Amino acid sequence: MNLDGKHIVVLGAAESGIGAAILAKVKGLQVFVSDAGEIKASAKAELQEYAIDFEENGHTRDRIIHADLVVKSPGIPETASIIQEIRAKQITVVSEIEFAKTFSKGKAICITGSNGKTTTTLWIYHILKKAGFDVGLAGNVGYSYAKQVALEDRAWYVLELSSFQLDDMHAFKADIAVLTNITPDHLDRYAYKMENYVASKFRILQQMTAADFFIYNADDPNIAQWINTHQIAPRLVPFSATKPLEFGGYLTTEQLIINIKTTTTMSIHELALKGKHNAQNALAAGIASRLLDIRADLVRESLMDFENVEHRLEFVAKVNGVEFINDSKATNINAAWYALESMERPTVWIVGGVDKGNDYSELESLVKAKVKAIVCLGVDNEKIKEAFADHVEQIVETQSAKEAVNAAYQLAKNEEIVLLSPACASFDLFKNYEDRGNQFKKAVRGL
Ligand code: ADP
Repeated sequence: MNLDGKHIVVLGAAESGIGAAILAKVKGLQVFVSDAGEIKASAKAELQEYAIDFEENGHTRDRIIHADLVVKSPGIPETASIIQEIRAKQITVVSEIEFAKTFSKGKAICITGSNGKTTTTLWIYHILKKAGFDVGLAGNVGYSYAKQVALEDRAWYVLELSSFQLDDMHAFKADIAVLTNITPDHLDRYAYKMENYVASKFRILQQMTAADFFIYNADDPNIAQWINTHQIAPRLVPFSATKPLEFGGYLTTEQLIINIKTTTTMSIHELALKGKHNAQNALAAGIASRLLDIRADLVRESLMDFENVEHRLEFVAKVNGVEFINDSKATNINAAWYALESMERPTVWIVGGVDKGNDYSELESLVKAKVKAIVCLGVDNEKIKEAFADHVEQIVETQSAKEAVNAAYQLAKNEEIVLLSPACASFDLFKNYEDRGNQFKKAVRGL
């Protein structure tokens, strides 16, 4: 993309939009930022610092439809009228990620999947940092890629990419792509068609060549089906929790084994994070690091000393023998499945919120085996009650984190666990999953 002298419009002034605007300005392009809502004071201050022209609380059509290129925030839907006008004018629309990549000399390790993106992204970043790489962390994890490219370009980036971000990427090329898994999520954005969602995830491979690597979960049927029916350009690097692989990595009941160049072996009990899902994330991170020739002993050490990410199976406290775990980030069935699977003692499960089309029957056998009581935390709990009434001793309904924690604490006995793993989004009672997790932790600490 040759952008010399071009006029750029940035739609949406959150972290990524501000970053894109700064990058455009630093590169000497004409740039205008427009947000349909109010822009945060700190963001406005940044725009002013770089003398970037902007508007808020609405879009001035005439200033937008003459742009040469539009950088769009992933949060703005295709159905927004301004986007439809831009499309009708055939103006190129790109994401902040794609825009930033045009100006970066760095290579990109890109992680996508339905679950495990953030954990795997941070784990890879942790290993690269420890190995002394000049590396930046960006994408869906909250730091703007464009801003880093503008202010201090790095040799490497670890980028977490959501399917929404991938949908706006066309010319972008990853050097290493990681696909953790594909299970139903966000289907409301994909016309309720699983194949559309799968296709969106596989956009991560666009533009990749035989010199690049694709690390993927070989146990995932959706991934396997796509690979069997499509030409894949990059070199395939599978990982599995069920079968040995000569090239890639796998788990046995006791060990994590990576076969890239040489064999790296470690005990799964030494991994920094518990649960089979995290052992899979560790495999993906370890494989990426070995492909970059990071020493096996350093990879092993980094898989042991990585620190857990907040709201993902996070240990909160033990109160009178009852252990409280915050897994507020589990906003779909698959994430809750792995949380329940990793519970080793009788569990009181706090579940509920905004259901994105959940099929609770997938959790039935785990609930029977591990859950003694359910505390619903949501406005509408009918589906949960219907699915599990016959399988647990008790189901209670609550409407706040405090109520839920109190109820769960009453139900749990010494040496038992209270697990918040909602399988649902949080918007009915909370601002977002962080708010839900924080209120949960506060209530636990107040017991
Ligand atoms: P994402 O960024 O894709 O949402 P996170 O790493 O934030 O993924 O984890 C989200 C939720 O999914 C958490 O509840 C976490 O415990 C669970 N999880 C993490 N890794 C995996 C995985 N590989 N498979 C299934 N669930 C996972």
